[in-house]
Amino acid sequence: MSYQVLARKWRPLSFADLVGQDHVRRALTNSLTTGRLHHAYLFTGTRGVGKTTIARLMAKALNCEQGITAEPCGQCSACTEIDAGRFLDLLEIDAASRTKVDDTRELLENVQYAPTRGRFKVYLIDEVHMFSKSSFNALLKTLEEPPAHVKFLLATTDPQKIPVTILSRCLQFNLRQMPADVIEQQLVKITDEEHLQAAPEALRLLARSAAGSMRDGLSLLDQAIAFCGANVSLEETASMLGAVDQAQVVEMLQALHRGDANGLLSQVDLLTARAADYAVILEELLSLLHALSVRQQVEDAPVQVDVPEAQLASLAAAIPAEELQLYYQLGLHGRRDLPLAPTPRIGLEMALLRMLAFQPERTGATAEFAPPPALAVPTPEVVVPLSGEVSVDADEPRHVDPPAEYEAEPVFESESPADFVKIGSDEASFDSPMAPASRASEEVSPVTSGPVVESFSESVPAAAPIAGRHDAPQSDMPGADGHAVAETSGSSTEAVVVSDWSQQAYSLSLTGLAQQLAAQLALVSVTDREYRFTLDTSHRAVLNRAAQSRLEQALCRHLGREIKVVIEVVHHSDETPAKERQRIEQLRLDETTRKLQEDPTVKALEGAFGAQLDVASIEPLDPGKS
Ligand SMILES: [Zn+2]
Repeated sequence: MSYQVLARKWRPLSFADLVGQDHVRRALTNSLTTGRLHHAYLFTGTRGVGKTTIARLMAKALNCEQGITAEPCGQCSACTEIDAGRFLDLLEIDAASRTKVDDTRELLENVQYAPTRGRFKVYLIDEVHMFSKSSFNALLKTLEEPPAHVKFLLATTDPQKIPVTILSRCLQFNLRQMPADVIEQQLVKITDEEHLQAAPEALRLLARSAAGSMRDGLSLLDQAIAFCGANVSLEETASMLGAVDQAQVVEMLQALHRGDANGLLSQVDLLTARAADYAVILEELLSLLHALSVRQQVEDAPVQVDVPEAQLASLAAAIPAEELQLYYQLGLHGRRDLPLAPTPRIGLEMALLRMLAFQPERTGATAEFAPPPALAVPTPEVVVPLSGEVSVDADEPRHVDPPAEYEAEPVFESESPADFVKIGSDEASFDSPMAPASRASEEVSPVTSGPVVESFSESVPAAAPIAGRHDAPQSDMPGADGHAVAETSGSSTEAVVVSDWSQQAYSLSLTGLAQQLAAQLALVSVTDREYRFTLDTSHRAVLNRAAQSRLEQALCRHLGREIKVVIEVVHHSDETPAKERQRIEQLRLDETTRKLQEDPTVKALEGAFGAQLDVASIEPLDPGKS
């Protein structure tokens, strides 16, 4: 038998095998045993936490020939076929690869037909947030009046991109990231049952590197087995992961605390010799600083670092809280800037030396410690969540009612200068339920209150809200009034000149393939009886007889007389409506980007908070919508 990867081989086949996610398991098994079934379930969570695994278990529980049960038998043909991935009534759709509305429609059109042989027809839609707007509409129609024999199991890593109309019709379950010790236990169990030799420390390291994803944990174990052979050792695993020995990170922190630059740099030398990843070194240092800070406040709090308890306690006692905070802040910046440094090693060394340079004077009492001026600048990492957030960490399933309106709360409740709040609320009102999550990252809030806000509103007294600027480029952009032009030319029965084809093509109200075809055609000549086009051979696929005759009919109707459409496939066609639209859209985007970059409010935000304009996220508003 060929080798099967561990993540696949150890995929749970029953709810009892499921590791972690107890809150979801309990809710689902309860509803299965009591027969209180919903018609649509949504599983959210980051990758590798078990969304599709749980969905497949649900499919089995619903279709097992022994009856609807929380403990599917695993023996009947329905159970075995679902496990093997060939059950006819389980339709798995990966929305990431099927975003065209036609495909979704085609699938949803079959919803009305009874299941072939199962009890329920189960649609498992993975990464459902990747659906196009029209696919969501098709799905919504079905969810509004779902046939009794259909169940929808939706999974997503990004629930905020799902329209609230869909969310409110689903029972939502938020799957949590797996704690490292849960992953570790599973790795121990698997290595035991697979009769593999593995050092417990190596498994702990793998579990920590999995960052909450069981699937990643098992893949890493696969990798380690391939790398180390029959005996998975800590040294080899660490070198495979580019991992860092925690003991060295501890020594690094001790050197920092002593103010010992020499010791600090020789630690970097040592780690370099072991081919450690510089980003990982910073991450480990940050984790250690976090663990120590937690320990200082709560003595017996669990922490996730691999440092002996006694050492942890003595470090927590020795280093003042402000110093830990300072190192953490500087380390965070160092990590962010690492890709900008000439080499990663320089980036790491400068971050460490900066920690030394800004070290508080320890001659007096530590209470007198004040942060250096650079630290008074608010950090840009803080993001204000929009009030319209739909992501809910639901312990129990619940319906999410669509919020009546998307209204932003004032950023500062007590003292809120009008300017600042206006920016916040205008920005938020642009977020439709479908808005990309990246919008939220444009919102920057200072950490400190009062003074910073005041200086901000003073420095840009007459600044208009950012959101208002979105509208600006529309009026003076080429093609912005394309609708109006198209309509006037639509009422005319004159033969169009060749260059007007783009406008005319869009006013023909074509759909589907005929619309695609019209967009790719270049008009070369017009006579009383004939429209002659060229079609670039790269778009050959959109040409078929039906589309051509629909285009011909639409043109005849539009012109009010009989004409013939002649299409010639050529190697390079002239400007087509599609090309023209693309060109105009690029122009509008460039213009919008330029205006935003020159906007005084944006500049002030950049200056005051170190905010950065995410150029890739800019999109001009469609003149037809808004
Ligand atoms: Zn069964």
